[in-house]
Amino acid sequence: MKINYKTLAASKARDPSKDVLMGKYAILKRQNSKCFLDGCENALTSYKGPGSNKLCRAHQLKMRQYGGHGRIDRPYTFWKKDHCEECGHNPMRDNSQLINVPEPYRTILGMMLLHVDHVRVGGKDKYTNSNGVNHPKNLKTLCVECHMLKTFSKGDHWKDGFHSK
Ligand SMILES: [Zn+2]
Ligand SMILES: [Zn+2]
Repeated sequence: MKINYKTLAASKARDPSKDVLMGKYAILKRQNSKCFLDGCENALTSYKGPGSNKLCRAHQLKMRQYGGHGRIDRPYTFWKKDHCEECGHNPMRDNSQLINVPEPYRTILGMMLLHVDHVRVGGKDKYTNSNGVNHPKNLKTLCVECHMLKTFSKGDHWKDGFHSK
C-alpha cells in the first residue's frame, strides 16, 4: 500500500520558536494558575498562541496546531504515549510501512495507530475532566490490535445487556 502522507497538514504546523512571550505582569499572574489537565501540576504557559489560557507549555506544544495530537476537547489525547503499554508496540519504530515515511509525517501517522483507552469511564465524562476519568492513572495507551482485543474481550462493542442474557 502506498501511503499518501502529504495529505497531512504538518507543513502548516506552528513553529514553537516563533511563539511570543506574554508580558511580565501576565506571566507573574499565571504562576498561580494551573494547566487544566487533570494530573498536571504545571503553571499555565507563558507563551501566546493556541491553548494559552488552558495549558502549560509542555502540553501546549502537544496540540495539533503544533503538529502534535492533543485536542482540548479530548483531554485524554495529551497523555498518549509513543508505544502500546500492553505489548510494547511502537508504530514509528515497528510498523514496516511507516519506516520510509519521513518525519514529521511518520510520527503523526504512527501516533494515529495508538489509542488512549479509559480504564474506567462513564457516559460523556470521556470528553471532560470530571470524575478523574481523564487522569493519567485512568488512561492506558494501546495499539489498535490490543485496543480491539480489550474492547471485544470486555464486551464493550455489544449493546448493553447482550452479554448478560
Ligand atoms: Zn500541563
Ligand atoms: Zn499492543
